Amino acid sequence: MARRLTLLIDADDTILDFNRSEYEAVCKLAQDYSLGDGQAIALEFKRINRRMWDMFERGEITREEIFYTRFYELFDKFSIKGQDVVEVGDAYRENVAKSTCIIRGARAFLARVSKDNDLYCITNGVTRTQKLRMKNTRLDRYFKKLYISQEIGFQKPNKDFFDYVLNDIGKTDKDDLYIIGDSLSSDIQGGINSGISTILFNRENKPIKEVVPDYAVKNYRELIDLIDRLKQKEKA
Ligand SMILES: [Mg+2]
Repeated sequence: MARRLTLLIDADDTILDFNRSEYEAVCKLAQDYSLGDGQAIALEFKRINRRMWDMFERGEITREEIFYTRFYELFDKFSIKGQDVVEVGDAYRENVAKSTCIIRGARAFLARVSKDNDLYCITNGVTRTQKLRMKNTRLDRYFKKLYISQEIGFQKPNKDFFDYVLNDIGKTDKDDLYIIGDSLSSDIQGGINSGISTILFNRENKPIKEVVPDYAVKNYRELIDLIDRLKQKEKA
């Protein structure tokens, strides 16, 4: 008989299209606050934002520092004066929260695999923003529960994050358990830290170097096939 798997699935850039949400959120901001060329500002913001979240992952900066520091840097870069970074920062998060950009095929994928597996969403992010995005996209219905780092108090890839999730689910064995995500540094490293099998959702075909997943797929079709194969595997 096929196994029922417990799948811990990352949100951003695994099912939600963060790149597009971020881009559209900044373009709207540029328009609402007359900041200038939305496209150029969005590209620069993306660079700054990535760097800051990487710093956050390494524990070098707090989440609250990111919220406003990224706009100080952005405004400095474009010589934008007279803007209130707190107001703009809050407006940006609000724009992202309202965004409904999902990766093409994500809904069909979740509908299919949630039928005979247990799905939990695991995400590093801001509680309010992530909850709203999952609700507005109506992807929340496929998950038994949503685990958000800010709410839990630990973040991926820390073992504490996964210990919390497994404890909350009430899962003691890791046989039927898999982490699915696009990030080597948070999802795959998190699996390695906590002894959980990992599947890299590698849409962008990024090179795999030091952090090596157990499996890697390029699209939802491959992911569904892999999950079907894993379901047939005998218990070790
Ligand atoms: Mg991700």
